[in-house]
Amino acid sequence: MPNRIIAAAAVAALAAFASGAHSTQAQTPADSTIVVLLGTGMPRPNPEASGPATAVVVGGRVYLFDAGPGVERQLAAAHLPINGVTALFLTHLHTDHTLGYPDLVFTSWVMGRRTALQAYGPPGLRRMTDHLIAAWSEDIAVRTSGLEREAPGGYRVAVHEIRAGVVYDSAGVRVTAIPVRHGEWRYAFAYRIDTPDRSIVISGDTRPGDALTAAARGVDVLVHEVYPEARLAPENRPRGEDWPRYMRAFHTSDVEVGRLAATAQPRLLILYHVVRMGGTDEELLAGVRAGGFAGRAVVGKDLERY
Ligand SMILES: [Zn+2]
Ligand SMILES: [Zn+2]
Repeated sequence: MPNRIIAAAAVAALAAFASGAHSTQAQTPADSTIVVLLGTGMPRPNPEASGPATAVVVGGRVYLFDAGPGVERQLAAAHLPINGVTALFLTHLHTDHTLGYPDLVFTSWVMGRRTALQAYGPPGLRRMTDHLIAAWSEDIAVRTSGLEREAPGGYRVAVHEIRAGVVYDSAGVRVTAIPVRHGEWRYAFAYRIDTPDRSIVISGDTRPGDALTAAARGVDVLVHEVYPEARLAPENRPRGEDWPRYMRAFHTSDVEVGRLAATAQPRLLILYHVVRMGGTDEELLAGVRAGGFAGRAVVGKDLERY
């Protein structure tokens, strides 16, 4: 596809997005901030819940948080550009949050990306990126030197290995990385995004912690992972007796989310990355209420916009 057609396709996609296509929400002004749930799932493959990925769209800019499996297809389904995002932020390097990373890197190139993908994430991201580019070196050689005539180097990634604090601040959008505890992971982050009209916190994977609660105080939207406390029990499999201990060290229950939301008081709580263990939406929301949060709370579904 010639460049100008690809650029026109990206503009058309965003126009469709702005017009509210496939949205249950009312039309919103083109320059306002919208949260798009691209993937609300977790490691278990579920066609209804793609791998973790959340887009924060500010006018024509798309900030992507995590790149779970299926991310390019979900960007297409949401009418967002498939030829590169403004910036990618990874919460941590667990596979369920990063298996879509090579998809984002290479598919966006094949769909017309010419400039380096700006990728922010924990230490280890540079090594992961170098390995991915090496892993697909045969593809890169054929696409570049063969008849596909892809732009040489269009797959490039500008890697920013981050520490806690403000990691991005440009044209009214500020992204702050919040260190969180996620089992044995040395580096895992939640992100707070401040735009001209909204404040948003995305938890990534974490057990409850004060830093995230403080960062989420009074935000417009808190997107938080969850599992149903009442369903936590040893699993019937080898080493399944460690399951409750694992969940408590790595993740946050509905009751714990309710407790932290009661302190932080977000205007809207969206549950995602749902480790269901058979739990229903109603059970999860009841758990949140039991934790003490009385504000607006929803269980997020793929492609919803808030
Ligand atoms: Zn995860
Ligand atoms: Zn994780």
